[in-house]
Amino acid sequence: MIAPGAWLGLLGGGQLGRMFSMAAQSMGYRVMVVDPGEHSPAGDVADACIRADYLDEAALARLASECAAVTTEFENVPAEALRRLAQSCFVSPAAESVSVAQDRIREKSFLSGVIGVGPYAVVQAEQDLSAVGAQLFPGILKRSRFGYDGKGQMRVADVEQARAAFRAMGGEPCVLERMLAFECEVSVVVARSDDGECVAYPVAENIHAGGILDVSIVPGRISPSLAVQAQEATRAIAERLGYVGVLCVEFFVVDGRLLANEIAPRPHNSGHYSIDACVTSQFEQQARILARLPLGATRLHCAAVMVNLLGEAWTGGEPHWDRLLAHPGAKLHLYGKREARRGRKMGHFTVLGATVDETLEQALSLRAALGR
Ligand code: ATP
Ligand code: MG
Repeated sequence: MIAPGAWLGLLGGGQLGRMFSMAAQSMGYRVMVVDPGEHSPAGDVADACIRADYLDEAALARLASECAAVTTEFENVPAEALRRLAQSCFVSPAAESVSVAQDRIREKSFLSGVIGVGPYAVVQAEQDLSAVGAQLFPGILKRSRFGYDGKGQMRVADVEQARAAFRAMGGEPCVLERMLAFECEVSVVVARSDDGECVAYPVAENIHAGGILDVSIVPGRISPSLAVQAQEATRAIAERLGYVGVLCVEFFVVDGRLLANEIAPRPHNSGHYSIDACVTSQFEQQARILARLPLGATRLHCAAVMVNLLGEAWTGGEPHWDRLLAHPGAKLHLYGKREARRGRKMGHFTVLGATVDETLEQALSLRAALGR
């Protein structure tokens, strides 16, 4: 075990890294961040911050020599950086696992070998669309690489629109998915350690707006047996990948069945409720895995509803924080970003309560009360 006081390295300085840093620091670890930006949410709270590109030789050498272990918070961190670091220190997650999640084509084919996925076709070149059947429309064309928060994807009604979308997105390899009429979306976070121990969090039910996560409701309002299936499928995915770290799988529920959407090789926005509502947060698990500590319990203390705060909440000025903070069960998390832009994740809040219905109602009315 790596004892508190040691340095843990982090590639990426976003909000996920900030929440990881805070969890690791509260256990006595020191955190060194690598991020190319001048200010970053994680860099601002870390014990040390190296401003450099992820493949910068000197930065990687310093991380490797000073840190006992290194993790990442940024999905598109070059897998090569993780590979290089792994030659001299413990790295979680592994480059190979991260690279599967970075490429939707590889991700889909991997997922379809473990659990069901919705109908899709791989589109490497525009002519591949000629062979696509009508059953994939209306569809959604997603670039295979560098998509997040609904970016790099376009909804398409027919093959003509798909061709235009393919060209508009740069002619890069894509996946065309059928637009699914799902009952709901859910996700599961698991933590899996170096020795294969794996724990699952309760299922979150997720509501998206404009391709971005808006609200997570925990426990998700699905049947207990479907919830167990989602947890088991997520565990199976982690095991099949030989994954070490915190991983999230997003699912669609269609006709009472689970179809996997995508995996995230890191703590996930839909798992933020765990900071306030669980015995061990997803970020503490990430630190525990790095330090080779046993995993913590994932037990939920009570119902929880997380609401994302995007840049548009600042449109009329600083939100009415006093109204949110006056609620005894509301927990505010702001990421320290200096500029509120549309669609930018600025923070979130989680409301804790006795029942899901009552907590959801309170969370939504608190959100409405924040507005100017
Ligand atoms: P993130 O990484 O932030 O989760 P992303 O950009 O990788 O987002 P997806 O998870 O693929 O994107 O899609 C974002 C949201 O768009 C989904 O959560 C869902 O609400 C909707 N969506 C995506 N694909 C489909 C589909 N095939 N059918 C119906 N809705 C979809
Ligand atoms: Mg997603």
